Amino acid sequence: MNFSEQSRLVHAGTERTAGAPLAPPLLATSTYVSQGEPEPGRGYGREGNPGWAAVEEALAAIEGPGAAAVTFASGQAASMALLLALADGRAAIVFARDGYYNTRALAARLRPHGAEPVTVDLLDLGAVARALGRGPTVLWAETPTNPLLRVADLARLGQLAAASGAPFVVDNTVATGLLQKPLEFGALASLYSLTKSVSGHSDVLGGAVVTRDPALAAEVRAWRTAGGGVPGPFESWLVLRGIKTLPLRIERQSANALALARFLAGHPRVTAVHYPGTSPATLEVARRQMAAGFGPLLSFELAGTAADADAVVGASRLVVPATSFGGVESTWERRARWAAETAPGTLIRLSAGVEPAADLIADIGAALQA
Ligand code: PLP
Repeated sequence: MNFSEQSRLVHAGTERTAGAPLAPPLLATSTYVSQGEPEPGRGYGREGNPGWAAVEEALAAIEGPGAAAVTFASGQAASMALLLALADGRAAIVFARDGYYNTRALAARLRPHGAEPVTVDLLDLGAVARALGRGPTVLWAETPTNPLLRVADLARLGQLAAASGAPFVVDNTVATGLLQKPLEFGALASLYSLTKSVSGHSDVLGGAVVTRDPALAAEVRAWRTAGGGVPGPFESWLVLRGIKTLPLRIERQSANALALARFLAGHPRVTAVHYPGTSPATLEVARRQMAAGFGPLLSFELAGTAADADAVVGASRLVVPATSFGGVESTWERRARWAAETAPGTLIRLSAGVEPAADLIADIGAALQA
């Protein structure tokens, strides 16, 4: 019998032999005892650590059958390996115009070794088709996007990518494989910042590439070994500890985010709310491709100035002013405080934690009076 992905997450890395520690051991080492021809992954610490394998097993489980995962020191390290692996011989990499700005910035930095980054609105399928027609390209989608939470149609994007022969990548950081399985929509790879919901406790950076393609897995693993963007043993241990409760957290956080989106939509100071579970134009697509919840992240825009939005963020007593998302504690920030961010000036990105929804609504309601 195949147990559910939730059960496989809980038991990832757990040994069942008599006398084995139930909690996965933390194996801190930079090298292994060996002589002669080294055992694969056991020659030197940059080649492998048993802690990586457990995290990779868990991540592969949530992306569906046949998947393999390769973990990295951060989401950006994972993106860099994947960009380098896919860029060879391509003219362009097509990104979501409103996706995570640092991925585009990274691609621009890699330009001498990569392909030209171009941006499109992924909801405009004609524009996507035109961008893919510029020669050999990579389609690098993100849905829901950070920070506008726009939902692109993965099935349609998968068809467009297949028709033009473009490798199709989906940044699955916001939804995670528990809510959305890009590989089932034709994606070659699913990209993760493990720093967010997967680890879930705001205490570690990590990243991963998940794919069903053994050649791509080998290629990004080779970039990891050569480039050195490896996860530390303790970081892997923290990610594994966090991932076991991902289903519980994401369920609660999705419910909280939905309650907050509804509350904010009715507030007189709020001019727009962005959440996959309440945005009418894409709700049907979101329901089709996001199972069991719409994720922890939402954003909203305020009437007034950037200073007004800063005052609201500074007035909360429970929600923490901080960047990042997906942690157990609710956090928020005015997103355009980051110079390279293209979000509207008064947009506040809010990550719903696991606190009771009533507390969050009370706190945010009071802060909105600031
Ligand atoms: N992808 C998305 C959607 C992100 O939001 C982030 C970080 O915020 C990353 C990738 C990069 O991840 P990391 O910060 O772990 O390098």
